Amino acid sequence: MDYRKRFVVDSGSKIHLKDIDPAYAGKLESREEAEREIQRHVARLDALQYLLYADATQSLLIVLQALDAGGKDGVVRHLFTGMNPQGTAVFGFKEPTAEELAHDFLWRVHRQTPGKGQITIFNRSHYEDVLVVRVHKLVPKSVWSERYDLINDFEETLCQGGTRILKFFLHISPEEQLRRFKERLDDPARNWKISESDYTEREFWPRYRDAYEEAMERTSTEHAPWYIIPADHKWFRNLAISQIIADTMDEMDLKVPAARVDLADIRRKYYKEEELP
Ligand code: ATP
Ligand code: MG
Repeated sequence: MDYRKRFVVDSGSKIHLKDIDPAYAGKLESREEAEREIQRHVARLDALQYLLYADATQSLLIVLQALDAGGKDGVVRHLFTGMNPQGTAVFGFKEPTAEELAHDFLWRVHRQTPGKGQITIFNRSHYEDVLVVRVHKLVPKSVWSERYDLINDFEETLCQGGTRILKFFLHISPEEQLRRFKERLDDPARNWKISESDYTEREFWPRYRDAYEEAMERTSTEHAPWYIIPADHKWFRNLAISQIIADTMDEMDLKVPAARVDLADIRRKYYKEEELP
């Protein structure tokens, strides 16, 4: 199954998250069945990241958005298991500081975007400025409603500079979210993750849904597509995302650069006759 085709938000299309099943798992029945395929994609990703780094002419930006306990941290951990830390970065966007608020909303984001040869994952992103900001009325509508166009322009700028952008919305059900909160409650090692606001935010679920729908409808473009990933099953989420990223990188035409020295000359100079091929 080509998950890019299956989960991409077509530019200009209408989204009804209510009609998309968060527990979808294709024809796969279990985690075990998915695991082998996941391993295959993770190995592809490792090789492709090496190529991206060596090639050093393009970069990759991965945006992760989800409601609390949607699995953003899990995806980060999973994707980076085998990659070389040199050449990768993760950046989490929290509530803006006073200094950040004193600038335009893209200021803090632009400086964290990947340089050539780099992969950067955004754990939350500039999209918070049309999501939480909209839901909680942190700025007037006249301000946030202008931001969709600003985001599209920003992402186009990145794209023209050689950055591929992939945006993932991890789609979980309210029931699964509550179950995951309960796991944190029951596991002393994870108690620290609980905040009461996680529970109170649940009240705003329909408003977040509206905000996500509009954000994805207005900012899914050919150069920076959104993918809606059914994420109630962690293994399916990991499978779909790793396949989508690896397939995209496959198309980036990454090449190991040519040697910068005369190899025959180096061989002659520094190796004995019998060691030469
Ligand atoms: P976890 O899943 O571990 O809770 P998290 O990403 O939710 O991780 P937190 O520190 O709990 O991390 O939350 C960060 C908070 O910052 C979120 O509630 C998010 O909505 C908020 N935030 C991020 N960007 C903005 C923004 N531009 N304006 C206002 N709030 C923001
Ligand atoms: Mg949180």
